[in-house]
Amino acid sequence: MITRFAPSLTGYLHLGHVLHMLYVWGIARKRGAKVLFRIEDHDRSRARPEYETAVFQTLEWLGFFPDLGISSAAEKPSEFRQSDGSEYYQSVLDHLENRGLVYGCQCSRKQIAETQPEGAGELLYSGTCAEKGLPLEGNTVRFRTPGRQTGFEDLKLGRQCQIPWLQCGDFSLRDRQGQWTYQFACVCDDIRHGVDLVIRGEDILFSTARQIQLFETLDAAPPQYYHHPLICDETGRKLSKRQRSESITQLRESGLSPEAVIGRALHQSGLSPSDTPFTAEQAIHEYII
Ligand code: GLU
Repeated sequence: MITRFAPSLTGYLHLGHVLHMLYVWGIARKRGAKVLFRIEDHDRSRARPEYETAVFQTLEWLGFFPDLGISSAAEKPSEFRQSDGSEYYQSVLDHLENRGLVYGCQCSRKQIAETQPEGAGELLYSGTCAEKGLPLEGNTVRFRTPGRQTGFEDLKLGRQCQIPWLQCGDFSLRDRQGQWTYQFACVCDDIRHGVDLVIRGEDILFSTARQIQLFETLDAAPPQYYHHPLICDETGRKLSKRQRSESITQLRESGLSPEAVIGRALHQSGLSPSDTPFTAEQAIHEYII
């Protein structure tokens, strides 16, 4: 069995990622899975080399050692770094295009937003360009999302049912600038890396049925899923790199030990009643397995 630790490179890692690592390595241990390390830097406008260097340092400093995948920032190109994967993603896209399952869309985000009802959350694309025959190049590439409901048995949350077609409509696989999207790159990589167990935060639960539909369309068996709880701030919002939550790199530079950082992540998540320091190994045994 293979699971993965696959951070996006949109900022430095924070305490939420430490909790995530505990779940990934802990559940992997429990189920006898190997942990593969992949860099999800598909968003070239936000990824920075210093973030990648920091991810390697943080993993090692905290004591999380992957079994498979990318082993150093010097590994270039790597099949475990999304910015190196364009040729492969293009070949998968060509396959979908030959089957008539994608189309080019020229609607801007603003235009789509204008069609949404008041107070709507996620943008729901209504398929304006679906039959226009626009080229894929230079346009957003959208997947013809099946109209059906997709269900799965989450290992933590139990039975889940989602209808992507009603949540987001035909979602995008590549943007107008030619950047691959998270949904597409993630599924293509989970297929080529043989990932059969996905452990991730509840914040991306809504992505899962979309990804299962892509797996099925590509004739690949979807992995099993385990969605874990998150660390939230005082206002109840999840910690986020974009909101500049305190990074592990900063905590380390301020003199905290790796054990103190792990203890703080456990405490802030509510798993531990105090911020007693723990090694990764102890924390996994005490709170995850
Ligand atoms: N790269 C994603 C993130 O850092 C996680 C990918 C996934 O678990 O599917 O949020």
